[in-house]
Amino acid sequence: MKNRFDHPMPDDKGYFGEYGGSFVPPQLESVLDEITAAYLAIRQEPGFIEELSRLYRHYVGRPSPVFHARNLSAKYGTDIYLKREDLNHTGAHKINHCLGEALLAKKMGKTKLIAETGAGQHGVALATAAALVGLECDIHMGEVDIQKEHPNVVRMLILGAKVIPATHGRKTLKEAVDSAFEAYLQDPVNQLYAIGSVVGPHPFPMMVRDFQSIVGNEAKEQFKELTGGLPDNVIACVGGGSNAMGIFSAFLDDEAVALHGVEPSGRNVEEDGEHAATLTKGSPGVMHGFKSYMLQDAAGEPMEVYSVASGLDYPSVGPQHSYLKDIGRVRYAHINDKEAIDAFFELSRLEGIIPAIESAHAVAQAIKLAQGGERGSMLLNLSGRGDKDIDFVVAKYGADYGVTNMP
Ligand SMILES: *Cc1c(COP(=O)(O)O)cnc(C)c1O
Repeated sequence: MKNRFDHPMPDDKGYFGEYGGSFVPPQLESVLDEITAAYLAIRQEPGFIEELSRLYRHYVGRPSPVFHARNLSAKYGTDIYLKREDLNHTGAHKINHCLGEALLAKKMGKTKLIAETGAGQHGVALATAAALVGLECDIHMGEVDIQKEHPNVVRMLILGAKVIPATHGRKTLKEAVDSAFEAYLQDPVNQLYAIGSVVGPHPFPMMVRDFQSIVGNEAKEQFKELTGGLPDNVIACVGGGSNAMGIFSAFLDDEAVALHGVEPSGRNVEEDGEHAATLTKGSPGVMHGFKSYMLQDAAGEPMEVYSVASGLDYPSVGPQHSYLKDIGRVRYAHINDKEAIDAFFELSRLEGIIPAIESAHAVAQAIKLAQGGERGSMLLNLSGRGDKDIDFVVAKYGADYGVTNMP
C-alpha cells in the first residue's frame, strides 16, 4: 500500500527545484537535521501513524465532509463542492499539522512547543495540540495583535499556553517571529519550533505538507464517491500555503485537474504594502530560513504586506508553491478584499456556511472562474470557519450588506 506520507519531493536537502533548502545559523543546522531524521523515521512507524489517525478521526472529527453546494452551483452555472475543513475541532485545517508536530516533539523527548502567531489561529491550534499531548507551549505574539485578537489570546491562556508579548518595532507578526526565534535559539534541544505553514527551513515545508495531505487524500476519494470521477478544478487560498498544498498534493499527478492557488490582492495589487500577492508580484529571495518567491523592498528586506484576511498576509510563500508556479502546474490568481467580503456573504446567505475570510478568497475565485465561463466542476478547500471574523466584518462592512447594529 502506498504510504500516506509517500511524496516524491523535495530532495534530501529540502529543495523543490531551486526553492526551499535551509538557511539557518550554524547552531541550528544539527538540530534541524535531527528533526528531519526523527520525522522520516517516525512517519514509517505504525504506532505513530495509528495514533495520528486516531486523533484525526476521534478528536478532530475527520474525515471532514465534501459538500455539493447546490445553491451556489445553480446561481453560477457550474458544480461547486466544498471540502469542509471549517468543521474540524478548532475550526480550521491548522489542527492537522499541529497535532503531527506535537506528536513528533513528544516522540523526540522535547518538553515545549514554541511558535509565533499573528491573528492567533496558529497559536490556538498549537496550544490545543500541546494540551492534548502534554507539552508546555509558549506563543509569541506582537503586543498590537494581543490587543486586537483578544478572544484568541484568552483561548490560548485557558488551554494552558503562555502568551509572550513582542514589544519591539511595530509589535506585530514580524516582531513575534523574531521573539520566538530568539527564544528557540536559547534551547533548541528541549523545544520544538512548530512552524504554522509549509514555510521555514527544511524539513518543515515537507512535514507540514505531509500532515495536511490528509485533506487532499480524503477529498479525492469523497469526490469520486459523489461523482464517479475527478474534479476539473481544485481551488484553495494561499497564505503560507499549507491548506493549498494539503488539497493539491493528491492531484499533482492528475494532469486533467487544473489547480488554482488564490493569493490576497488586498486593497491594491499595484501598490507595495497594500497586498500580499507574493507569487504574483514577488521575486525569488531568502527569508525566514528558506528560498522562495518573496515580497522584498529595495534593500532585500521583507516588505510590509496587507490583506483583510490576517491569515494570508505573509511576505513569502511555501517553496513548493514557487516550484509549482515556475513549472506551470498550479495557476496562481488573486482576489481583493472587496471580492473576498462579497464571497463571505454570498456563501453565508446561499449555503448557510460562514467561511473564514481567508477561505472566502477561494470561494471568490470559484465564482470568478464561473463568471468567466468555466463550466467544469470545482472542488474548493474551505480552510476554516468565520466565527473569528464576524465582529470585524460586521463593524467594517456590515452596513454594505444590510447587517446594521443589533436591536
Ligand atoms: C491560517 C489560515 C490560512 C492560511 O494559511 P495557509 O498555510 O496558507 O493555509 C487559511 N485559512 C485559514 C482558515 C487559516 O486559519
